[in-house]
Order: sequence, then structure tokens, then C-alpha cells
Amino acid sequence: VKRNRKNSFAFYEDALSVPLQHRAEMERLLRFAMDNGEFVLHYQPQIHLGSSDAAGFEALIRWNSPELGFIPPDQFIKIAEETHLIVPIGEWVLRTACEFIKTVHEAGHLAPIVSVNVSVVQLLGHRYVETVMNVLRETGLDPRYLELEVTESMVIESLDQIADKLSRLKEHGVNIALDDFGRGFSSLSHLMKLPITTLKIDKSFIEQIPDNMDHQPLTGLVIRLAQGLGIKVVAEGVETYAQLDYLKKYECDCIQGYLFSKPLPAKQARDWIKTVS
Ligand code: C2E
Ligand code: CA
Ligand code: CA
Ligand code: CA
Repeated sequence: VKRNRKNSFAFYEDALSVPLQHRAEMERLLRFAMDNGEFVLHYQPQIHLGSSDAAGFEALIRWNSPELGFIPPDQFIKIAEETHLIVPIGEWVLRTACEFIKTVHEAGHLAPIVSVNVSVVQLLGHRYVETVMNVLRETGLDPRYLELEVTESMVIESLDQIADKLSRLKEHGVNIALDDFGRGFSSLSHLMKLPITTLKIDKSFIEQIPDNMDHQPLTGLVIRLAQGLGIKVVAEGVETYAQLDYLKKYECDCIQGYLFSKPLPAKQARDWIKTVS
């Protein structure tokens, strides 16, 4: 970890290249952060393209460290996974997100769901399904208002085991999203093997609309294919009206991106929803 500016750190691109003493220090800081409430969730709105109604929110973790400053998730999730601290952190994220969406419902907005990112380390833990069901019971949230986001790259290694756990959660009514579809290697066979209810098209794919004509029909085909399988499609990283028009033309179900809103702190997210419904 190298110090730059006054209160922030530049992290090495690959966490494994961080010297060991820094990793141990990071682990100590992450544990401290967990115990001292330094993590916070922001919520990025997702909108139904057809009706412009709020479809839900994706919960995204931030770390506000008095020592390191504001640290985005890309810079600590990997170390949290390697130290297995992602297990308690992930459970906190799940519980906080479920409590948040309950407050949205209690304010009279009954439809929105909350999407939570899940790490493979959590999924492979021996009591993951039970943990999710316990949190749902304790928060009193109906499972159909929770969506768990998993990425393809992480499930490839233990596809059968993960598909089995996700199927059990889906049987309980939890929604399962395949995140980052189209980033790097994507396989339609994974799409068929996993019990997914939602496909999230990665922003690297959306970015190529409309300048790269090659990707336009492909994005449209992916939407049609997923919908043909009864899977809801969410486009991520939507930033321009040109992208929006294209996604409308192909009848994408939902969109998420800076064009509508950045991820917002809980209070602002609750204010945002009043402006759309
Ligand atoms: P992700 O799941 O793909 O989340 C979407 C990321 O894209 C978020 O970055 C979001 O702020 C950003 N984004 C949203 N709309 C736009 C847009 O229109 N343009 C651009 N350029 N970016 C947009 P963020 O919050 O920094 O999160 C980065 C990644 O960290 C997430 O990628 C996810 O993989 C991971 N992450 C975040 N929260 C959690 C968590 O609670 N648990 C785990 N395991 N991972 C998390
Ligand atoms: Ca995600
Ligand atoms: Ca769904
Ligand atoms: Ca994503």
C-alpha cells in the first residue's frame, strides 16, 4: 500500500502482489472496520424500462476508514475474500440491505427488491443457505424481495456445488442474478446450468452501443435469448440516451446506471424513490 494524496492510498492492481506485512495490516484494519461500523452500503436504483418505475436497488459496500480514507470495494473485497473476513462482512451486507428494503416497503413503496453481491467464498461456506434464510427470517423480509448476484468467473470452478445451493435458495423464493455477463469469458452453457432469474449485462457490453455496430445485434440477441428462457434482463452502466434508446428498442427489462442515478446513501435512496413513484 502506497500513500498518495493526503488521506488516501494507492493499492496495487493485483492484491497478491501487496507485500505480506501490508496484507496483515489490511486484515487488522478490516477486522477493526467490521467491529467499529466503518462499512456503509450505498444503493443504486434500477428502473423498469417499460413503466419507468423503481424496480429495485443494488447494495454496494463502501469503507470509510479513519486511517486510510474512503476505499472503494474493488480495493478491499479481494483481501476480505482471502482472509475469509468476507463471511462476516457479507452477512452484515445482507442483513443491512434487507433492513433497508424493509424501510422502503414500510414507506409505502411495495415493489422494489434489493440485490446483494455475493462472493464465492461465502457461497462455498458450509452454512450459506441457512445464513441467508436466517437473515430473511430475522429481518422479516419476504424472500422474493431479495436478489443475490453471482459472477460467472467465480462459479466456474465449483459449478455443481454452487448451482445446488443457488437452487435451494431459489426454491425458497430468492432471486438469483448472473452479474457482469459479457465481461471477459461468458458461456451460454453456464447460463443454462445455473438457476438464474436475472441476467445483468456488463457495462463493457453496454459501452459499445452505439459506436460498435458489431455489438449492437449481439446485445439484442442476448436480451431475446434470456427473455426466451424466462430470465429478466438488467443492463448495467447505462450512461447515455443512445444506450437507453437501444435498450428500449430491444425491450430490455431494467436498467441501472449513472444516466438515472449513482449509488446513493440509504436516506437519499429513500428520497429518490419518492421522485419516481
Ligand atoms: P458490480 O457488482 O459490477 O457493481 C457495479 C459497479 O459499477 C459499482 O461500482 C457501481 O458504482 C458502478 N456503476 C454503476 N453505474 C455505473 C455507470 O453508469 N457507469 C460506470 N462507469 N460505473 C457504474 P462499485 O460500487 O465501486 O463496486 C465495484 C465492485 O465491487 C462491484 O461490481 C462488486 O463486484 C464489488 N462489490 C461491491 N459491493 C460488494 C459487496 O457487498 N460484496 C461483494 N462480495 N462485492 C461487492
Ligand atoms: Ca453486482
Ligand atoms: Ca426476479
Ligand atoms: Ca456488475
